[in-house]
Amino acid sequence: MTDLIDRIAQFRASIPPQVRVIAVTKTVSIEAMRAAYAAGIRDFGENRVQEAEVKRAALADLTDVTWHLIGHLQSNKAKSAIELFDWIQSVDSLKLAQRLDRLAQEQNRHPQICLQVKLLSDPNKAGFSVEELWQALPQLAALPHLQIRGLMVIPPLDLEPFETLKVFQQAKELAEKIQIQSHLQLDQLSMGMSDDYGLALQAGATMIRPGRILFGARR
Ligand SMILES: *Cc1c(COP(=O)(O)O)cnc(C)c1O
Repeated sequence: MTDLIDRIAQFRASIPPQVRVIAVTKTVSIEAMRAAYAAGIRDFGENRVQEAEVKRAALADLTDVTWHLIGHLQSNKAKSAIELFDWIQSVDSLKLAQRLDRLAQEQNRHPQICLQVKLLSDPNKAGFSVEELWQALPQLAALPHLQIRGLMVIPPLDLEPFETLKVFQQAKELAEKIQIQSHLQLDQLSMGMSDDYGLALQAGATMIRPGRILFGARR
């Protein structure tokens, strides 16, 4: 585990300090998550509600960790998601946002939200198209119990690096445009995984989501 702690600490040190490193811990053991914590990581990203539930309970002693949901959320799990996560980064439809707002009110919570947006069409991924996002903005901005903070982007997997960079740059421009033209304060850009976080940083990511580069290949 000391190797793992060193590797993760070195990675963290290589990233600008103002950028939040969300360690993506799907399928990762509790022991490895404790190593990440020992290396200074304070943000964990999970893509399944049930897995996060088990891990939060096992790591309840780590009280200063922020938990991020980064995977598609089914509406029947929305209530648990509000209970478990500080950030829900994968809000991919107006309907889901409205449901989360209702549930947040019931639970007296104010989750931080990223809107997942697809800058290129990708049948394998959920997310607002740019057009859908513009259309939904007035209604999104009117949801009082959600703190809508930014955009989350997952580019299609088969792009060349210059194309991936372009997607990230377009995300940055879109967030800026939305800030000017709506009442949403979108100052967060969650983008970049193990293979493309450098490009994301170049384009202005404020949060990156590395998994394998920290913990090794997933089973
Ligand atoms: C799995 C996952 C990651 C991490 O991917 P790696 O390639 O392991 O870095 C980041 N973001 C999301 C949304 C993911 O599902």
